[in-house]
Amino acid sequence: MVFSIATFGLLLLLGFCLGDDFGYDGNHGPSHWGEEYHTCIGKHQSPINIEEHNVKNVSLPPLKLIGIDDPYQSFVTNNGHTVMLKINESKVIMLSGGPLGNKVYVFEQLHFHWGQNDFEGSEDLINNHSFPMEMHAVFYKEDYKSMNEALNHSDGLAILAYLYEVSPNPNVMYEPIVEVLPDIETVGSEKVLREPLMLRKLFISDITTMQDYFTYNGSLTTPPCLEVAIWIDFKDHLRLSHEQIAAFRNLRSTEGDKLTHNFRPVQSLEDRIVLHNIPREQNIPRNIPPKTYHRFDEHSGQHNVEMPLSIIALAVLFAVILFAI
Ligand SMILES: [Zn+2]
Repeated sequence: MVFSIATFGLLLLLGFCLGDDFGYDGNHGPSHWGEEYHTCIGKHQSPINIEEHNVKNVSLPPLKLIGIDDPYQSFVTNNGHTVMLKINESKVIMLSGGPLGNKVYVFEQLHFHWGQNDFEGSEDLINNHSFPMEMHAVFYKEDYKSMNEALNHSDGLAILAYLYEVSPNPNVMYEPIVEVLPDIETVGSEKVLREPLMLRKLFISDITTMQDYFTYNGSLTTPPCLEVAIWIDFKDHLRLSHEQIAAFRNLRSTEGDKLTHNFRPVQSLEDRIVLHNIPREQNIPRNIPPKTYHRFDEHSGQHNVEMPLSIIALAVLFAVILFAI
């Protein structure tokens, strides 16, 4: 009896340390997270609502993903809060560039957030619009050597966020994950994917659309909500069928119920500025005749418009006629 009470206490403590005593409803729901985890009521929390009219346009160096074209044995786990995918290799998939500069971030895991219907589920919103699903690919800064150490630093993590739309047809790239979901319905279960996975298949593969993203500093969206993440939210969306998204809702949560939704509501932006990276190519005006340029005079701050020759000719003709009269 004493032994079982001690074991129970140890399990409870372990659960607390790992941040496992949270959920998405009732007393364990997001509005109560701050009671146990004070960092969840910080000023730079995630997710947020990104208002497109309230972002600062920038052109950052290209964002680079290394290693996503190589297939790696991968496995998915139901951790009671989400479906998490990891690969059986370490330090083979890297992220750098963009808001990360020349610092390298190492892939740790990716996971999903979803809602109980196709009208909600994403964590970040765009112009108050919610999407049915969102994927987070989590990278930690290589300088910090490990995920755990990175969590102690404000630039410890870089997280790629992908939003999904519902499409009439299934996305075949996601079938290897969707087909194993029935095997990991219970919490703690794990399943190796049928074939080694190329991460490019899950990510936006077009190099241009990959440079079109929002970026801001925020937090983990689950307790302990540490404010250690540089978020990169792609503007282009991925597509999954209704059935593929619905398959995620059959997973069981830590409480044993169906995990029908696992998204945190948006948090206040406070003093943060969201940047919108415009792909560099689009910033350079090309194939525009020089005559139509509206040049900005750096010294006077005035716009100079070059006068077309035809107007000058007309003015001269008018003056000649006036003089003749
Ligand atoms: Zn997440």
